[in-house]
Amino acid sequence: MKYYIKTFGCQMNVSDSERISGFLEAKGYKSAQGLSEAALAIFNTCGVRQMAEDRVYGQIHNLRKAENANPRLTPKTIILTGCLANRADVQKRLKNKVDLFCEIKDFPKEFKKILKTTNHKLQTTAQENIAYLSISPKHKNNFSAYVPIMTGCNNFCAYCVVPYARGREVSRPAAEILAEIKSLIKKGYKEIILLGQNVNSYKDKKINFSQLLKKVDAIHGNFWIQFMSNHPKDVTDEMIETVAKLPKVFESFHLPIQAGSDEIIRKMNRKYTAKQYLTLVKKIKKAYQKYKPDLPFALTSDIIVGFPGETKKQFMDSAKIMKLAKYDMVFFGQFSPRPGTAAWQMKDNISKAEKVRREQFLNEILKKTVHANNKKYVEQVLDVLVENKKDDHYFGRTRTMKNVKIVATQQNLIGKIVKAKITKANTWNLEGKLS
Ligand code: SF4
Repeated sequence: MKYYIKTFGCQMNVSDSERISGFLEAKGYKSAQGLSEAALAIFNTCGVRQMAEDRVYGQIHNLRKAENANPRLTPKTIILTGCLANRADVQKRLKNKVDLFCEIKDFPKEFKKILKTTNHKLQTTAQENIAYLSISPKHKNNFSAYVPIMTGCNNFCAYCVVPYARGREVSRPAAEILAEIKSLIKKGYKEIILLGQNVNSYKDKKINFSQLLKKVDAIHGNFWIQFMSNHPKDVTDEMIETVAKLPKVFESFHLPIQAGSDEIIRKMNRKYTAKQYLTLVKKIKKAYQKYKPDLPFALTSDIIVGFPGETKKQFMDSAKIMKLAKYDMVFFGQFSPRPGTAAWQMKDNISKAEKVRREQFLNEILKKTVHANNKKYVEQVLDVLVENKKDDHYFGRTRTMKNVKIVATQQNLIGKIVKAKITKANTWNLEGKLS
């Protein structure tokens, strides 16, 4: 029996899909090359933007249409999980097309229902009630692994579906996380990416995020630690000191501001001011400068443009923050009202064209700060994790998440950490040669 998982959205969904794959393969399912050859189609959905949602409707509709047009095709079993699974309007809309709607945390338990209603046979008898975060995942490669440390969110930002889709915050036991990481390092993994909606509100009894990081860093081996995402309100002095000091932790910090205007930040229910945010930025940069003065540091963020009521003046506050923070990357989102959220009740009064214009405007600022930051890399010799190869070039990433194109004729560098001398800085990538 073959399965195919179509994943939409963020890294957390990618990580969840890896766990679903691990669960299914332990039961004897085999992975298919595409949706067309799978008997079991799983849609791991994202509800953050209307566009991602519409793609799910379109693809499920097309699958069922193909079956109806060709009666010789074996009907697929379709499972919908992820952010849309719990929404009543989505369930109503896809009622006759989807066999099972289930939240990701219930996937192992709910999967039994599919076995009862179809002729799917199992080869193994893995526990069905296992917590989904404890499932052994099937990672996308053998050098970089996502390790979820918590899921859910208690913050209820006005625009966000996560607290409704995933429920309240739940942290994984530290012992389980550490055991998973030790086993990955033993297998040769070079990069561990700790994941959660708010990694910095992680709590397992007396172990907070900083203490967890120290324990991960103490695991023997040559590997990097990355973590995402953080909420500025939960960034403590202890956390700043810890991340800047620990040798295996990346010299990169993702700190989503979402908007530069205090009034918009308040309407978003984010619980900080632009001034407090900039104070954090200063502290973080200072700490990295203190502990890792010879290494480049990168700051990244998320910004939403066109939040309901965002005036041109308020939008210009986002531009101002970008100039002050000098980001290395910003992930922009054009506001899209999501059912069930507080912002759904607000008037989405900024036109699509204006949202596009605002995003382009900010992107021009970003290009300038990124290029200026990248120029500082030239002539430096840096560690690069090699991820793939095309013709005579390898492609990898620095510990600041900069993409690097490396000229190299050596074989088998994929998955290795190499030293590269940076020879050229472009806006969206660096170029270098093996040192
Ligand atoms: Fe969503 Fe805000 Fe929670 Fe992040 S902190 S997951 S944006 S509600």
